[in-house]
Amino acid sequence: MKLSNSYAELPEHFYARIRTHPVPSPRLLAWNGSLAAHLGLEELGGDKERLAAIFSGSEPLPGGRTIAMAYAGHQFGNFVPRLGDGRAALLAEVISPRDGRRYDIQLKGSGLTPFSRNGDGKSPLGPVIREYLLSEAMHRLGVPTTRSLAAVATGEPVFRDWLEPGGVLTRVASSHIRVGTFEYFASRRDGEALQTLVDYAIQRHYPDCATDENHVNTFFSAVVAAQARLVAHWMAIGFIHGVMNTDNCAISGETLDYGPCAFLDTFHIDKVFSSIDHQGRYAYGRQAHMAQWNLARLAECLMMIEGEREDYEVRLNEFQATFEAHYFALMGRKLGLSQPDPEDRELVTAWLQLLQDRRLDYTRSFRQLAVRLEADDALLFDDFETRWLQQIDRQPGGRETAAGLMAAANPLFIPRNHQVERAIHAAYEDDLSLFDELHQVLSAPFDAHPGLENYAEPPAENEQVLATFCGT
Ligand code: AMP
Ligand code: MG
Repeated sequence: MKLSNSYAELPEHFYARIRTHPVPSPRLLAWNGSLAAHLGLEELGGDKERLAAIFSGSEPLPGGRTIAMAYAGHQFGNFVPRLGDGRAALLAEVISPRDGRRYDIQLKGSGLTPFSRNGDGKSPLGPVIREYLLSEAMHRLGVPTTRSLAAVATGEPVFRDWLEPGGVLTRVASSHIRVGTFEYFASRRDGEALQTLVDYAIQRHYPDCATDENHVNTFFSAVVAAQARLVAHWMAIGFIHGVMNTDNCAISGETLDYGPCAFLDTFHIDKVFSSIDHQGRYAYGRQAHMAQWNLARLAECLMMIEGEREDYEVRLNEFQATFEAHYFALMGRKLGLSQPDPEDRELVTAWLQLLQDRRLDYTRSFRQLAVRLEADDALLFDDFETRWLQQIDRQPGGRETAAGLMAAANPLFIPRNHQVERAIHAAYEDDLSLFDELHQVLSAPFDAHPGLENYAEPPAENEQVLATFCGT
């Protein structure tokens, strides 16, 4: 096991050293064996009790130096100079023997830290199960994301609107450095710390920038590209992050913080699920714009140490083109078009308009459309369908190639809100069977799972989830 603590070796004001405390009766609900193997954590063994103890914070991870990271953030547009890990504990970093990369191992919901403010540092089990299912599903859907290593029930009730069982999630990330980490030091006018952070971030995430003359600007450009790609993925898969505050915007370009996020069922560009997003700031169709807004906040920080405003503006404006290139490539594949041209962009728009007008299920409609490639009778998609088939027939490989592309790009299974909630409710009654089934289909979301087809079904009218909550 190759553990290290490079972030904990940065200057003292980057974090707070903390200790986590034993919970009454830790119970391992989920263990991600393949991720553990990827990280080279087999040494920890298969003893569930020991794993539950370590990944609830009851016992230390041998070789780790536990810290809570400092960061600031713009929350719904308002700057908060000091947020930090209020309910998270970074246990250690590990170098994967498989890919040689460095990963953070972090507990979420493990108790008070100096950054807890008015919170209790804990998490109910619901959000733990939710993040476990959603982050692993995102990974299998090919979207850059933090991962989940373990979910543990603590045996300790947590008080929210009522008493709920407590839980701890173990999150694995390329790092937990966010736009808000830069804002923390920038707002304190601490140029030295900013420089240290930039150097660290470059070395850890974008080492190719290090040799560049304007390496801070190049670093910024790399983050812009990573975010643009990320949001393109979200949009293509029908994902709404829900709380794109700068403290939830990872500079690695991974999806970070599964709070009130949700997958679209019926398509609507203005869809909002989050119960706290009253203005629709982070609505489905605003996500690219909001990512760019967050990146502008990062640029303001970086300007303090190198370069002119104009240099950053140029880089920031690259966002749109990168986003569109990725988005239309992904959407093209979803429509079976391998070489998207400008006309295909119009087709994508027409398709989405059709889904929206007819209130159709986003994920399922792509699979239904693919059926048309084999059947001769027209489906429901009339005018669009004719144009679309013309485009397909013009491509090399024709309908057969298109069918292959569509099967590989359009999942049968996504973590549908109503299914996730059902799995959580059952888990609260000590029944993990729904969690296991859902996890099983989401682990191979493009494959058929005989007997579990119901997980591909959109919600019936009375099953629709209209709002999601942070639940923290
Ligand atoms: P989030 O909405 O999850 O991005 O969290 C925003 C901020 O609130 C972060 O600084 C969290 O650490 C903090 N926070 C959220 N829930 C809690 C909690 N239960 N106890 C302490 N801090 C929390
Ligand atoms: Mg957060």
